[in-house]
Amino acid sequence: MTTLTDLTLAQARDGLRNKDFTARELTESYIAAMDKHRDLNAYITETPELALAQAAESDARLARGDAGAMEGLPIGMKDLFCTEGVLTTAGSHILDGFKPPYESTVSARLKQAGAVLLGKTNLDEFAMGSSNETSYYGASKNPWKATGDDRDLVPGGSSGGSAAAVAARIAIAATGTDTGGSIRQPAAYCGITGIKPTYGRCSRWGIIAYASSLDQAGPMTRDVRDAAIMLGAMSGYDPKDSTSANLPVPDFEAALTGNIKGLRIGLPKEYRPEGLSPEIAALWDRGAQWLKDAGAEVVEISLPHTKYALATYYVIAPAECSSNLARYDGVRFGLRVEGSSLDEMYMKTRAAGFGTEVQRRIMMGTYVLSAGYYDAYYLKAQKVRALIAQDFRQAFEQVDVILAPTAPTPAFGMGENMADPITMYLNDVFTVPTSLAGLPGLSVPAGLSATGLPLGLQLIGKPFDEETVLRVGGVIEDAAGFTAKPTLA
Ligand code: GLN
Repeated sequence: MTTLTDLTLAQARDGLRNKDFTARELTESYIAAMDKHRDLNAYITETPELALAQAAESDARLARGDAGAMEGLPIGMKDLFCTEGVLTTAGSHILDGFKPPYESTVSARLKQAGAVLLGKTNLDEFAMGSSNETSYYGASKNPWKATGDDRDLVPGGSSGGSAAAVAARIAIAATGTDTGGSIRQPAAYCGITGIKPTYGRCSRWGIIAYASSLDQAGPMTRDVRDAAIMLGAMSGYDPKDSTSANLPVPDFEAALTGNIKGLRIGLPKEYRPEGLSPEIAALWDRGAQWLKDAGAEVVEISLPHTKYALATYYVIAPAECSSNLARYDGVRFGLRVEGSSLDEMYMKTRAAGFGTEVQRRIMMGTYVLSAGYYDAYYLKAQKVRALIAQDFRQAFEQVDVILAPTAPTPAFGMGENMADPITMYLNDVFTVPTSLAGLPGLSVPAGLSATGLPLGLQLIGKPFDEETVLRVGGVIEDAAGFTAKPTLA
């Protein structure tokens, strides 16, 4: 029974349809595994009873032969997606006791496709972070450890709980959201696959907002095929989100042909700064060679505004967050700390409800939006953002897809980067430009560091061309033959 949790989503889907096992058996295996690995703190809320009830419904549908794309597959849901009647926290104290009266579009689609909800996964507070250490519910742990070193490592962030759960086999797959790298970086740190689709591919409706012009949902899975299947179930036009793209959803799984002959792959020279870790550089070179061996053409490209991406992101994202988070005032939902006046109640509630990093972002955001600074910071950042997007447009006149590292280092130790926010922000150096340009980005595990930790390679595609990104990702995956498993799985 325990080996059921080792199956990929595609294997489990086929096994369920074949009647090799039931959705109930699969779900029970996951619930038992969750019990065993609770120390990872990957889940904020577990929903075993709901999962078993949903599994029973899945078994009935499987028996009738009307199974959905995700039928009977037990998943984790990042605790940023509103789930009807199930506690939704965004990893923050300020949402204490919040049980949404509605379901986010993405989680509703997954439910509709037959997915079973195991629980809500841990995250950095309001998705602000790169290590999952800013969660009010405590850090989640990476199930991997460096060779011969017993220290706990971070799973990456902000979708750290989702990444840890998928890697530790306590969810077959999980949802993530990515504003500046929060799907791709934790996927790389935990040795799993994650794709941030094109902005507009998945509806943002019912996802607690961080920076609305950047936020995108996506799947976090064991492999590329699983990502293709789950992305298909999550995607599609939603009239409730005005930025949702009214485009048909391709059959992403069918795109995994393995054939990349004649495809042009770009390697951005700005992603090889001086001081780039030699093992990350070597991994990147190896990735380029694998694609060449498979018949692709590799060319050097330039994305000249890359060096401004982090600074731009850390103006725009806080600006949008300061506006989005203004709604948490203790009046309608979540935490309230009483005061002697309405203003005092607001202040006390927000001071107690938001953690340090969230407060820092709100202050940065209100600063860059305030009169006198708006032009110098916010407007300037918007202009640079347009230049970054233009860099990519020009590059895509030359190439079909871009290959780059996902993160500059493997997973780091807990507490190591918390003292200095700037060091933490540097983690996003390779993921943030894609987010600013709204492009799809996939991270695939491609090798191990000298210390035995997973490393990811990133593929960046043209708008709404997730198919090519996934196809090339599949080729990297096959060439890398990444079979290592975390110490704690
Ligand atoms: N680490 C980045 C930040 O803190 C990205 C987070 C995200 O993508 N949600 O903003």
